[in-house]
Amino acid sequence: LLYAVAHDITGRKAAEDALLTEDAFRKSMEESLVTGMRAIDLTGRITYVNPAFSRMVGWSQEELVGSVPPFAYWPAEEMETCHRNLQLTLAGKAPASGFEMRIRRKSGERIDIRLFISPLIDSLGKQLGWMAAMSDITEPKRVRAALEASQERFEAVLDGLDAAVFVADAHTDEILYANHAFMVMHGFDAVGRTVRAVSVAQPERGDYLVDPRNLGPADLPRELFDGELRHPLSGRWYHVRERATRWVDGRAVRMAIATDITDRKHMEDAERQQEERLQRTARLITMGEMASTLAHELNQPLGAISNYASGCVKRLQAGEWKQQELLAAMQKASYQAERAGKIIRRIRDFVRKSEPRRAAVPLEDIIEDAIGFAEIDARRVGVRVVAEIEPGMPRVFADRIMIEQVVLNLVRNGIDATSEGGDNAVPLVVRARAGHGRMAEVAVIDRGGGISDLDRERLFTPFFTTKADGMGMGLNICRSIIEFHEGRLWEEPNPEGGTIFSFTLPMETQREQLVQHV
Ligand code: ADP
Repeated sequence: LLYAVAHDITGRKAAEDALLTEDAFRKSMEESLVTGMRAIDLTGRITYVNPAFSRMVGWSQEELVGSVPPFAYWPAEEMETCHRNLQLTLAGKAPASGFEMRIRRKSGERIDIRLFISPLIDSLGKQLGWMAAMSDITEPKRVRAALEASQERFEAVLDGLDAAVFVADAHTDEILYANHAFMVMHGFDAVGRTVRAVSVAQPERGDYLVDPRNLGPADLPRELFDGELRHPLSGRWYHVRERATRWVDGRAVRMAIATDITDRKHMEDAERQQEERLQRTARLITMGEMASTLAHELNQPLGAISNYASGCVKRLQAGEWKQQELLAAMQKASYQAERAGKIIRRIRDFVRKSEPRRAAVPLEDIIEDAIGFAEIDARRVGVRVVAEIEPGMPRVFADRIMIEQVVLNLVRNGIDATSEGGDNAVPLVVRARAGHGRMAEVAVIDRGGGISDLDRERLFTPFFTTKADGMGMGLNICRSIIEFHEGRLWEEPNPEGGTIFSFTLPMETQREQLVQHV
């Protein structure tokens, strides 16, 4: 009996121990589980929740077990969905991928969860209800939403661009991505086709800095091309920039952005043509002006030659002549013929020129020539023109005839201003000296009537003139010519009355230094 009792006690104890161990095991498993578990019976009443479930929703196990739908953690705004999902569950129609839904925590906070449903069956095979495993997907969902938003933003930005953007496989040339502007240009089926097939304006193989087909992963990212290209079919101009980079899936791709610059190109062309036209017009105008002064100027030597010649003829006819006198007359006639020849040569040089040619020229030659041309006008209105040139000036790097034209124009304006109510007792001065930064500075200083503030604003505007026979192109063209020479042209009042027009030109030495530098 004693044995039996002892045995019975031992057996019970072992059984109790085993039970205890199993209990502890289950408890610790329940505690450590992060997935929420919830069991409901066939009517939908909660029969069990694990600690993780209770932690997730915020209600205690006691509060939850025994409760019937609608459950405390169903948010008011999601009632319908929650009911529907429960109906599906009870009908055994829960999707294998689970339900994704939103629940309310006791604190009021909403969290996104995924619920997997499986039938709850006892050891005899009888279904007791349904078990749900619930995991919190708020964070992954937030991350995914953030990614999607950033992807959307990225696409919105790229699609908002006027520039065409595409990404193509560096080896197969297949287009992997194209933005809206690209597809508008090359078709909405562009992705999947090759760049060549959609005929994009792209560099020739040889124009790439490196051949994109030979790039390995270690070479990325890398600049491939940056330049202006003309589309062979449409004739439009693009600024194209291509880079090689690693695509999201790791392969090497070419990423290209092409901006349509046709309008800018056309504008630049138009501006250049306009400028050329202006210069041509200016030359024609000056040529016209010169033709009339030339006729006038040639009259003098020709008249003088004719006088000397007829004087000689008369004396020879009368038979009263002294060799000395005849010789002197013939010498004077030949000097005048030389002068006439020189005038004609100048005109020819001027007319023959077609495009600017820069060379090292002594500034005083330019100034003296220009003054020579203006001399007749100056004499007609009684204005004296003098050159004041600083000794030892280096030569300037310039197109001689163009700069002569500038000086001539400024001197003529000065003469006009002096003759219209200025002080012609004082000469008009053309002064040349070394300015700042190895630039030569030329100033045309007149004692004319000056320029009003109102006129000053429009001085360089094309066709601004106050003269009855003026064109108003002179100053405008002068300024473009000087700027073409990397100089500056400006106007300021002469403190002694009148106006000073000045311009700068690079001196030869600086230019030489520059050339050496390059
Ligand atoms: P144009 O001589 O054919 O009128 P310009 O462009 O050379 O054309 O000059 C524009 C205007 O600027 C002149 O009509 C004149 O009113 C004014 N101007 C130019 N130079 C002077 C000057 N030295 N003194 C006063 N006014 C001047």
